[in-house]
Amino acid sequence: MATSYDDTFAPQPLTIAVCGAGIAGFATATALRKQGHIVEIFEASSFSREFGAAVGVPPNATLVLKHLGFDRERTKAVDYFGSLSRPSNGTVEPFHAFARPSQETWGNQWLMIHRVDLHNELRRLATGPDGKGRPAKLHLSSPVASVDADKGIVHFQSGETRHFDLVVGSDGIYSKSRAGVIGKPVEAPIASVPTAAFRWVVPASYAEGDPDLEWIMKDGVQGGRVTVSKEGHFLLCYPVRNKTLINNIAIFWDTRDQTKVGRNVASSKEELLEVFKSYDPKYKKWMSKAEDVRIWQLRTMPLLETWTRGKTALVGDAAHAMFPTLGQGAAMCLEDSVVLAGLLPLGTLPSQVNERIRGYEQLRRKRGEFVARQAELQATVPNMMGAYSSSFEMQDMLMHYNAPKEASDYYNKHFAHTEQLQPSLWAKARL
Ligand SMILES: Cc1cc2nc3c(=O)[nH]c(=O)nc-3n(C[C@H](O)[C@H](O)[C@H](O)COP(=O)(O)OP(=O)(O)OC[C@H]3O[C@@H](n4cnc5c(N)ncnc54)[C@H](O)[C@@H]3O)c2cc1C
Repeated sequence: MATSYDDTFAPQPLTIAVCGAGIAGFATATALRKQGHIVEIFEASSFSREFGAAVGVPPNATLVLKHLGFDRERTKAVDYFGSLSRPSNGTVEPFHAFARPSQETWGNQWLMIHRVDLHNELRRLATGPDGKGRPAKLHLSSPVASVDADKGIVHFQSGETRHFDLVVGSDGIYSKSRAGVIGKPVEAPIASVPTAAFRWVVPASYAEGDPDLEWIMKDGVQGGRVTVSKEGHFLLCYPVRNKTLINNIAIFWDTRDQTKVGRNVASSKEELLEVFKSYDPKYKKWMSKAEDVRIWQLRTMPLLETWTRGKTALVGDAAHAMFPTLGQGAAMCLEDSVVLAGLLPLGTLPSQVNERIRGYEQLRRKRGEFVARQAELQATVPNMMGAYSSSFEMQDMLMHYNAPKEASDYYNKHFAHTEQLQPSLWAKARL
């Protein structure tokens, strides 16, 4: 059948592989699908069991979620109104951090969401029938073995090999796609300090009706986040899933041999209580109700030489895994996603992919590395600890950021003028 004039000049989608279906992968797939591209997501796991815990979504990330079309109701998000910090000895003189109202100060809500709820919503946006563009195709149990970044080739552990116009490496801190971009494997190092976090989620009802646990109901469930700290130990509790669950993170100095333990392993409330034994009884009482406790090592990445190469771009933790000190790791994943997609509108030619992803790197790398570095410094350098919670300047710098607008401004400045050539280029590319 002859190609019609309209077909010949219609902008064509890119074929895109997204390697890894975490927050970064699903967000990037959503943003690229909305642009009209053909997106396939390859995830190593089967998602048969997703680990719980929760994630704080600061206003700069909420803005991105709105841009991606998220349905707040589905995520059962809880608004964050600031942290009450308490000393671990049980005294009640809370220090209030991040007290400025989020919507009024930064233009968007600061939310607290169960990680599984956020992940499910991003999965729906990326792969569901609703929304702009064609749904991304999700392949579970499809581990990527390596990526030929220059050629856009993905090698799977199954032995299969596929070729794409663009490959997105969103496979997290232990990324396999990263080696293809850097030219050699980059192992996520042992943290500069051996910190780890016990993490668990329990029903908020566990605190109901107990005067010893009034602090969690009043300050945590009703108020926002409550943190209890003592010399390198730090307990953080906040409500998620419409305030029916309490997410808990207990950060400690990890004396296990860091080279021999896994990143995310099962633990127990006995181990938790032993580490936090010097805490006031009311905090230990809350910890004694912990269930399904896991220990996460806190890790950061060395700065990479590059985030992009040829037809491949790294996003999320694969590019900039960071300490959770500033609560901005997932936020950076979300920002990456819309900036990358914002520079790749429908009609971008395969031959233009490299200049676009280099633009993405130029826009994102400085910010991602700044946040990662600050997160590490504020976790490890004594006189910098807590700086973020008291620095309006830094809060504004991180939370006033409008990633979709940054991408659109950059696109208009650097690439928009080439778009008028697009139809004739497409026609030429097909001859
Ligand atoms: C204790 C803790 C608390 C945190 N709190 C916050 C917070 O409050 N706010 C915030 O913004 N951030 C927070 N973060 C950071 C945030 O959770 C991460 O930055 C974010 O989840 C990273 O998402 P990602 O998609 O890049 O990577 P991941 O979540 O690691 O996802 C990577 C995906 O790739 C898959 N994968 C891996 N290898 C392969 C392969 N070879 N082939 C195919 N698929 C593969 C994995 O199975 C996984 O599904 C916290 C982190 C920690 C550890």
